[in-house]
Amino acid sequence: MEITEILVRYGELSTKGKNRKFFIKKLHRNVRLKLESFSKLKIAANRDRLHITLNGEDADAVMSRLRDIFGVSSFSPVVRVDKSIEEAKQAVVHLIKENFKDNMTFRINTKRADHDFEYDTNDLNRILGTVVEESIQPLSVRMKNPDLDVRVEVRLDGIFISVETLDGAGGLPVGTAGKGMLMMSGGIDSPVAGYLSLKRGMEIEAVHFHSPPYTSPQALQKAKDLTSKLAKYTGDITFIEVPFTEIQEAIKKHIPEDYSMTITRRMMLRLTDKIRGKRNGLAIMNGESLGQVASQTLESMLAINEVTATPILRPLISMDKNDIISIARDIDTFDLAIQPYEDCCTVFAPSKPKTKPKLKKVKEMEGSLDIDALITNALSGLRIESITQDDNSENLSEETYESLF
Ligand code: ATP
Ligand code: MG
Repeated sequence: MEITEILVRYGELSTKGKNRKFFIKKLHRNVRLKLESFSKLKIAANRDRLHITLNGEDADAVMSRLRDIFGVSSFSPVVRVDKSIEEAKQAVVHLIKENFKDNMTFRINTKRADHDFEYDTNDLNRILGTVVEESIQPLSVRMKNPDLDVRVEVRLDGIFISVETLDGAGGLPVGTAGKGMLMMSGGIDSPVAGYLSLKRGMEIEAVHFHSPPYTSPQALQKAKDLTSKLAKYTGDITFIEVPFTEIQEAIKKHIPEDYSMTITRRMMLRLTDKIRGKRNGLAIMNGESLGQVASQTLESMLAINEVTATPILRPLISMDKNDIISIARDIDTFDLAIQPYEDCCTVFAPSKPKTKPKLKKVKEMEGSLDIDALITNALSGLRIESITQDDNSENLSEETYESLF
């Protein structure tokens, strides 16, 4: 029996009142873009859900793409039969048999949009339930949390039956929360921060600082490759490369070593904020997690954050490293992130950075830098490109992975 339709249920957006239409429109658009390559699909959005009619496209391939779309709470493969009770009986029995294990519980849950159909919902529940019990054993009816929730919908154009409900990605549709600039290093944390921002409906642009020749082309490529992993959840991502060599050399020359990290971060934040302003972003996101390293103490954050009043979102702030790593593995960024190409922060890292920098001192020290000129120079050398999704899911060979541990 062939799957003819995928039924998609919305997540939290159903609670969004007046904004509901806007959310549904975005989700509809995101689903359409993600499934663009399946040319025969028909996708229709209504108030409560989205119907994807397959018209012969492969159900599994469509569902595997659907899994990455935020704003979908769950989805079900659906079989359509003509409006005949005999056909409905056959389909229900067939679908249950496909998913059946001994002693399972089930219920038939009927909805009727076509009120002219000869049986009402009670009739249908009873008739279909009886035929299931007669045809398949051992199993029993259970109304609350059954193993198999058989949904039967009588619509004008047929009877639609589903048995399986699969988890969607959750979250909110990308693009419903506005745009933010993700500070993308080549590490484990920032891609996860980007993923979580996308999940809450943000659109992201990646900002990456690099310092050739101190940092290698591979380090830059790694940041791009990580960005490309995130493109799976949103489509193409704008990647902004910021030349940072001049600034790092100036800091190295003029700033006492223990404060160089704090001042480097302030420069990064100033630049990211300028770029955000130009590109109409509403926030800045980074991969900081409280207490993880010297720059991630509250004292440090206070001193660094002082350069801007723009909201800085830190999706990982309260997460343990293990939890972050577990997400990084799920989204396939971990293996890439642990490749040993050092980024600009690592290359210039002071041996003993201040964990409790004093703002007053920071400001005094910055007096020896021509901040405006450094910023203007860096901004004049931006390189902006669009990064597309990496379809090749295997990035690192097993041996490379082994050699790192
Ligand atoms: P990550 O794993 O994301 O690199 P980390 O634990 O190594 O994080 P830091 O190196 O202290 O931590 O960086 C903290 C945050 O600052 C990063 O998560 C990232 O958002 C930002 N950041 C660091 N280096 C860069 C860079 N070269 N370009 C852009 N952003 C950066
Ligand atoms: Mg890092």
